[in-house]
Amino acid sequence: MIIGRIEHEAAEARGLAPWAARSAATRGRAHPQPAHDLRTEFQRDRDRILHSRPFRRLEYKTQVFVNGTADHYRTRLTHTIEVAAVARTIARCLGANEDLAEAIALAHDVGHSPFGHSGEAALDELMRDWGGFDHNDQSCRALERIELQYPGFAGLNLTWEVRAGLRKHRAASGERLDGHPIGPQPMVEAQIADIADDVTYHAHDVDDALEAGLIDEADLEELEIWRRAEARARAQGAGEPDDRRRRLAVRNLLDIQVEDVIRTSARRLAEEQPGSAAEVMSAPRRMVECSDELRAMIAPLHAFLFQRVYFHPMVARANEESVRMMRRLFMHYLERPDTMGRKARARIESEGLWRTVCDYIAGMTDRYALEEYQRFGLDAGRAG
Ligand code: MG
Repeated sequence: MIIGRIEHEAAEARGLAPWAARSAATRGRAHPQPAHDLRTEFQRDRDRILHSRPFRRLEYKTQVFVNGTADHYRTRLTHTIEVAAVARTIARCLGANEDLAEAIALAHDVGHSPFGHSGEAALDELMRDWGGFDHNDQSCRALERIELQYPGFAGLNLTWEVRAGLRKHRAASGERLDGHPIGPQPMVEAQIADIADDVTYHAHDVDDALEAGLIDEADLEELEIWRRAEARARAQGAGEPDDRRRRLAVRNLLDIQVEDVIRTSARRLAEEQPGSAAEVMSAPRRMVECSDELRAMIAPLHAFLFQRVYFHPMVARANEESVRMMRRLFMHYLERPDTMGRKARARIESEGLWRTVCDYIAGMTDRYALEEYQRFGLDAGRAG
């Protein structure tokens, strides 16, 4: 017996909460395609994203620590895989559509430029008079306009639900997609992917910063949430403060957040009892959230990460260097569009030169940007 799409759809109808998205009820794709015998529409989307080039390039893009600095720091790819795992856990525990949450999580960062947040800030500044640059919008552009996978149209032709989920930051704007409003709240599965991103990086950035020696455990003692994670690690039998206790504490830092999100959201969904995905979207506030208590503990952690990690001189110096390089590369392509790739050049007419250059650079991995920079000899006249 083969358990194919029909059976998966029946299992969704039986097993998911009433407010969960159902793949059989998708609003569909911009370019209609026949259904697949074995996989649901959301499973197909997850696979399309996973097999796409922008997804593979995440491997060589900086998350926080410049890509290639050390082999065990997170890259955009490992960050994304961790987010997808957390999103699946939350979705499964709540009765949401796990495949949809996973697809949105896997796609959520494909629009990131090389060199992390400094790279994004640099592109945004360069594009100030041309509509700016935002990695969320860029994820949509990459998957819907830039990637060429199918004859006849651009993009991966993802379902409405995944595309709407990737526009979570615009949900409240009144924007519509294929004629349907995408908000004011995102669907539960998009809310899950969103919060999974936050809780995941809170934990792994602490881990990487400890590993890199930017902070030590004594610095973290000022944070209530770390003290709780540490106490749990001790209760789980970890002895003296050492690497293993530290790793256990980091895992607890993640667990504490995920458990809180699941319990708080389950309670809220039980109180509100939305009868459909549409009711979730028209609700006055999100269903998936953490408790006030956790929020009060996360705020100082967030501030700590900004102060002590993201703007640490070691991180900032590497980033500044990268940003200078991106600016020069950008100017180079403006002057010499003929040195861009063929597919990029073909977009100049429809997208304009500035946006094409921006898309081209945004799609690059850190190392490809560096190679291009050296190939054009831009590292020669560095005085300016
Ligand atoms: Mg992310």
